[in-house]
Amino acid sequence: INTKLPNVATTIFTVMSNMANEYKAINLSQGFPNFETDSKLMNLVTSAMQKGYNQYAPMPGLASLREIIAEKTNALYNSNYHPDTEVTVTSGATQAIFTIISAFINKGDEVIVFKPAYDSYEPSIELFGGNVIPVQLSTPNFTVDWEEVANKITSKTKMMIINTPHNPTGTILSKEDMLKLENLLKGTDIILLSDEVYEHIIFDSQPHQSVARFPGLSERAFITASFGKTFHTTGWKMGYCIAPKELMEEFRKVHQFNVFCSNHPMQYALAEYLKTPDNYLSLPNFYQKKRDLFLSLIKDSKFSYTPASGTYFQLLDYTSITNESDVAFAERLTKEYKIASIPVSVFNLNSQDDKVLRFCFAKTDETLKKAAEILCEI
Ligand code: PMP
Ligand code: GLN
Repeated sequence: INTKLPNVATTIFTVMSNMANEYKAINLSQGFPNFETDSKLMNLVTSAMQKGYNQYAPMPGLASLREIIAEKTNALYNSNYHPDTEVTVTSGATQAIFTIISAFINKGDEVIVFKPAYDSYEPSIELFGGNVIPVQLSTPNFTVDWEEVANKITSKTKMMIINTPHNPTGTILSKEDMLKLENLLKGTDIILLSDEVYEHIIFDSQPHQSVARFPGLSERAFITASFGKTFHTTGWKMGYCIAPKELMEEFRKVHQFNVFCSNHPMQYALAEYLKTPDNYLSLPNFYQKKRDLFLSLIKDSKFSYTPASGTYFQLLDYTSITNESDVAFAERLTKEYKIASIPVSVFNLNSQDDKVLRFCFAKTDETLKKAAEILCEI
């Protein structure tokens, strides 16, 4: 048979989490918290089920949830999204991303993707016959060379995907970056997909430069978000996307046949829980403490690093430890030292030379301490 994704293997997150389980290693690979979500949120799900929210939700999402998402977004970013026509609740950000790509990408369309990139973007583009046009982030700080981006825009460029705060590097786009991007896209028909799943996980009092703040960007953009990241519930697979009405209409044409709707009782619970802004506004402080704890505990190790500006991932450079490839070293760390991480080359292009691993610090302080002890022995 003529298969559609001949070069795609099982995602690294499954590979590394399986290896962590097999070797009983501390799992700092796949990004998920090892602590519970707020019991208030769990109780809201139970009460939603008892109240009878057990059948299909409305196709675009529960009205009360869309309303509070619009309210929150507009308040935080001074934007003007309408809950009826410009917000859709999805089964995680992954589904939103896949649905956006499937709704717009045709054979031969070019999509600009910054590398390293989250691993779902490219296979999704390829499935619909699109061509990935990679732009490598510039080392050492993973910044964007906007001139290079300008040079890669052609008449075939249909979409560009950005991600801030950025997985796997933990970097963020600045206001200046966004203004340059706005300028670059002016007068084009390029659709922007802005993956902002870590919008609330950003450190050192830096503001999140959401695309929603920039009218010249938001008029052409989908923004994707994930409740999994924000409320420590990655297993719920709940998220949403926002976009101007004309774009959202196209999105919903696909969404209705892709999943139709997402989990109803959880939508009710999330709508209630979002009524308390502190439930997400407390996140930068919460995760910054974890980042700082982790980094303070490994400061005498042989790894070097620049502290993450956002996300719950920290890249560690192991140049002074070994010459091994990141894949080989990540495997050895899991098997011999009992600590699992993600080799960054899998998100990258031609980058077997990268000597960096990604560690997830969305873990209890106890786990971070145990992990740091191991990392200091290497
Ligand atoms: N985009 C990025 C950059 C991510 O890190 C993730 C989470 N792994 C997703 C999208 C997907 O989010 P969700 O789990 O809500 O599908
Ligand atoms: N976003 C998570 C990460 O980057 C994992 C997502 C997944 O397992 N598909 O680790």
